Amino acid sequence: MKSRKIVLHFSKKIMDQPIVCQLVKEFDLTFNILKAQITPKEEGVMVIELTGSDAAYRKGTRYLRDQGVKIKPLSKDIVRDEDKCTHCGACLAVCPTDALVVDRETSEVIFDSQKCIGCELCIPACPPRAMALEF
Ligand code: SF4
Ligand code: SF4
Repeated sequence: MKSRKIVLHFSKKIMDQPIVCQLVKEFDLTFNILKAQITPKEEGVMVIELTGSDAAYRKGTRYLRDQGVKIKPLSKDIVRDEDKCTHCGACLAVCPTDALVVDRETSEVIFDSQKCIGCELCIPACPPRAMALEF
């Protein structure tokens, strides 16, 4: 048995279908939803922890892809280029964990890397591309 954290992206077309529930019924996997949110583009994003054997994981994730779900492993190291950040706030609505929040005193957007789960949603949302994966 292994647990893996992954990010699932659902298009608007398949968002209301009980696709993830099938992982339990059909593939002997269990899942724990860590975060779920609808992005401004009306795409569904869900961060889940999937637990089961390697074979069950392979079959289950193949099933998800066949249904049109995009799967990404959870990245770990997201960094912000402080010189590029203009504190515009465009990233606030997409961050599912409040790793990006406004400091009420300074009105600046703070990035708390401890809260970041590496879902990468802020990267395309940031106009000056201040958020990036660290390699
Ligand atoms: S979207 Fe980018 S530039 Fe704007 S506050 Fe967030 S990190 Fe800074
Ligand atoms: S990757 Fe970006 S949007 Fe996702 S949790 Fe980290 S700061 Fe928030």
